[in-house]
Amino acid sequence: MPQPIIWPITVDNPIPPPGRPTWLEIDLAAIAHNFRCAKKGAAVACRLFPVIKANAYGLGSIPIAKTLTRAGADGFCVALVEEAAALRQAGIHLPIVLLSGCTPGLEQAIIALDLQPVLFDRESAYRLNQARGRDAPPMAVHLKVDTGMGRMGVPLDTLPALFDELNKLPNIQIIGIISHLACADDLTSTETAQQLDRLHPFMTQLEHQGISLHYSLANSAGILGHKSTHLNWLRPGIMLYGASPFFPHTQWSQEGLRPVVRWLTHIISIREVAANTPLGYGHDFVTQRPSRIALLPVGYADGFSRQLQNRAQILTHTQSAPVIGRISMDLTMIDVTDIQAATVGSSVTLLGQEGSWFIGIEAMAAWMNTIPYEVLCRFGARLPRCYLPDYL
Ligand SMILES: *Cc1c(COP(=O)(O)O)cnc(C)c1O
Repeated sequence: MPQPIIWPITVDNPIPPPGRPTWLEIDLAAIAHNFRCAKKGAAVACRLFPVIKANAYGLGSIPIAKTLTRAGADGFCVALVEEAAALRQAGIHLPIVLLSGCTPGLEQAIIALDLQPVLFDRESAYRLNQARGRDAPPMAVHLKVDTGMGRMGVPLDTLPALFDELNKLPNIQIIGIISHLACADDLTSTETAQQLDRLHPFMTQLEHQGISLHYSLANSAGILGHKSTHLNWLRPGIMLYGASPFFPHTQWSQEGLRPVVRWLTHIISIREVAANTPLGYGHDFVTQRPSRIALLPVGYADGFSRQLQNRAQILTHTQSAPVIGRISMDLTMIDVTDIQAATVGSSVTLLGQEGSWFIGIEAMAAWMNTIPYEVLCRFGARLPRCYLPDYL
């Protein structure tokens, strides 16, 4: 996994990292604030396991895990063993839940890294039980149940029998039941309540048997929008990174969140061109007037998607300017004809605040015809990530 390039930077003194001047500025204090939002909104006695899969949605799982540890996280969720290994190597000792289960061949790594896999079939439970052996204490696992997502998990009707069977295996211990909400981002949908209703009889039955487990349903949308789904542990993801899970209906500010990412670059060239000058690949853009065209050292290899052509605006000198022509792998053109102050070296904001303007992850997602999650996950591995401290 590519390691994030960590470069000290402060709000007052934004020195870009060496090399090509394009970087992400990630505000760890904002992440801590968003975590506190999740905690404040949580039903009592809920444990919080932030989801930092996919390199914390592209923002850098290690610095973010360290901030969230200090902010009071009870553990973390990741998708892959490699993601967990990077955290362990960085000295993160909190429990780590492995959301994608234990596919054949992962048993030893899961044991060595002391992970809590989310199992979704009988077979993987037997494999882990065998790999664990009797010499060590039983290994904590969670059972994934399909309450309505229809994607992965034990079917509900087989859950009671399977739970009883797997609960007898000596070398693993089922400590929790996990299910995932399919429609929680739609506050008008009745599916969320139904998913909870489908799980309830099983929870009641286990309670009668005197078995107490960890139960988890809620992602960010569940945390912010459906208190009844909180049960006793929560899996916040996107909200920690400063985007609303209810996109496009709300944005971060309405959910009490703070934006986390700024994406900054500099103008590396300015050219004066006549009217009717075709520019860039395919000559997709032709100037209508004598124009000043600025070049930015950022392209789709950095996650500045080709979908942004003809749609995105950027900010420079506290004004907005349009992206023009096709976005290429490493370069993007903007029209600064109306911004006389723009010059080589001018700072440009692709995402985040500049003056009274703000380009949010939600706005960029709309320009790209996607969701905020994908905007974050697309940030290129080669983009330096710079961190504003959390002061926790
Ligand atoms: C990614 C993921 C989450 C976090 O979802 P958000 O919508 O980002 O809060 C929670 N649970 C599971 C199983 C996930 O895969």
